[in-house]
Amino acid sequence: MQLEGSCHCGNVRFRCEAYAPVPFLQCYCSICRKTAGGSGSAINLGARADTLEVEGREHLGVYQAKIREDDGGCRISSARRHFCTDCGSALWLFSPEWPDLVHPHASAIDTPLPQPPERVHMLLGSKANWVLVPNGPDDVQLEGFPNESLEQWHRRHGLLQE
Ligand SMILES: [Zn+2]
Ligand SMILES: [Zn+2]
Repeated sequence: MQLEGSCHCGNVRFRCEAYAPVPFLQCYCSICRKTAGGSGSAINLGARADTLEVEGREHLGVYQAKIREDDGGCRISSARRHFCTDCGSALWLFSPEWPDLVHPHASAIDTPLPQPPERVHMLLGSKANWVLVPNGPDDVQLEGFPNESLEQWHRRHGLLQE
């Protein structure tokens, strides 16, 4: 599915071909909460990196999160979170460990996205205490990461775009 996205001020525009376009996965970790704003965000779409086209690259910033370890140490996440340096919109995540993929934030996408038949709320162990997580029959709540990849979830629901 062809997706078009942009930041809020419009200085960065991008498009990509998504194999996993359904925004079912919401992450409540502190990195998503602080860098993307709100209670839980969605770095949750899967697209092919070689289809990513960007206008306004000079307005892009990249953040590699500092992750505090239980032993008190700190490591730098390999994931590169791209954002607009003018308006701060979170745009997409790219991780060199999966060089074929790019993960746009659903919030940056302008193309109407499909409604998910089920929503997965992940990393609830890190959510802020004021965040209420939906708990309906189609809500799956996970303390940690899901066992399924974006691709496996889409395939199981018959929604994978080849
Ligand atoms: Zn912007
Ligand atoms: Zn997160």
